Amino acid sequence: MSNETVQQIAVIGTGYVGLTTGTTLAHFGYQVACCDVDARKVGLLNDGVIPIVEHGLAELVAENRAAGRLSFHLGSDPAVRTADVIFLCVPTPQDDDGSADLTYVRAAAAEIGPMLKPGAVVVNKSTVPVGSFHVVGEALGRDDVDVASNPEFLREGSAVHDCLHPDRVVIGAENGRAADVVRSLYESLDTEFIITDPASAETIKYAANGFLAMKISFINSVAAMCEQVGADVAAVVAGIGSDHRIGDQFLNPGPGWGGSCFPKDSRALVSIARDHGYDFSLMRGVIDINEQQYDRIVNKIARAANRFEHDPLDGVVIGVLGLTFKAGTDDLRESPSLRILHSLRERGAEIRAYDPTASGELDPIQTDRLDGFTLCKSMADATEGADVLTILTEWPEFRDLDLAATAAAMRGTAVVDARNLLDPDAVKAAGLTYDGVGRS
Ligand code: NAD
Repeated sequence: MSNETVQQIAVIGTGYVGLTTGTTLAHFGYQVACCDVDARKVGLLNDGVIPIVEHGLAELVAENRAAGRLSFHLGSDPAVRTADVIFLCVPTPQDDDGSADLTYVRAAAAEIGPMLKPGAVVVNKSTVPVGSFHVVGEALGRDDVDVASNPEFLREGSAVHDCLHPDRVVIGAENGRAADVVRSLYESLDTEFIITDPASAETIKYAANGFLAMKISFINSVAAMCEQVGADVAAVVAGIGSDHRIGDQFLNPGPGWGGSCFPKDSRALVSIARDHGYDFSLMRGVIDINEQQYDRIVNKIARAANRFEHDPLDGVVIGVLGLTFKAGTDDLRESPSLRILHSLRERGAEIRAYDPTASGELDPIQTDRLDGFTLCKSMADATEGADVLTILTEWPEFRDLDLAATAAAMRGTAVVDARNLLDPDAVKAAGLTYDGVGRS
């Protein structure tokens, strides 16, 4: 099968990865059917509503639907029956022991197996442990189809851009035909192709996320040290980031890493290594440091409210800017902000929070995750009556916080800027106190 003969593509799972992948493949000119088991999601998509916040996605979906290249379906039958290539983009959550749970991958593969046409290529885009290539093959139960691994590296918040301009495309396959078919789909991209064996492709994905998590844990440790020695982490980042061997990306100190990928993937990396007889102690340290970082921010906020480390926080009102795990997304999964806020609430604090994506109508999962917090409609609303104001997500608009109005609206005077977004001098000039991360 060459580029000319791949006509129909089915995408199984229409979440952050599946929806963006399916839409960009339609944009490349393919006929794409996106399938999901979530009737609410499929209904919204068919009504022209994009269920996630992702820059540029709504326009691209509308364009490709109008061109008749992109469609949304409840269930994979019959779309899979006529597809030349089928992408698996289903969740791989963390199991109780830290390993990746392959239940969804197995179920999706077992479901589509009997429907596949001979010669079809099944491409796994879900992040899966080394060896899962064979798990997919076994679950499909077919020896007349090919399987390939094509890990995804998109970042939520810039997912469309990342799919249109990837740093590289990684393809893992056991035979040249499967690799050629997958490569042909991305032919219009000006990018580097890394064609390798399935185990290496699967390892690349975990190693990439593990390395990025390591950079953040590293700089958070440096920031903690800066606070002790009276150095400024911003100057340190500028100083080390200008070294091309290090680079300045992913060196922003903050409340710790989170989101739908890093936490589960870093634990899975430790688990995969352990299963193969290697103690990945570096990665264990990276995870520990991240857990400590959540506690460090909780302690900063408690101290700002004049409470000792384990004191109850009854009667303390905390104004919060930012709930999502990063700016540019509505994703609350494993958000550091929520970890920190739940911990503060358990100690008795009242939480008044604003986030640009969580102030309107919430879906049931979001509602559950935000249970116990007062959700505010604006930054000003969140600061009203607060003893401490904290910034936990790096939404750019938070830089424009009206500091004079904030000082007037708050009951207390403390600002804990866990994203180093504000200018400390400007905060102090407004009559507030400032505590950032690693800022002397
Ligand atoms: P998601 O939860 O947003 O979406 C997964 C979708 O799959 C859901 O809509 C779910 O209803 C659907 N689904 C589950 N079982 C199905 C089935 N049998 N048939 C059809 N649909 C089914 O997940 P996501 O964030 O898109 O992640 C998917 C995979 O990609 C994961 O393995 C993840 O680790 C990986 N990944 C995610 C990102 C990211 O930034 N979100 C980046 C790279 C890789």
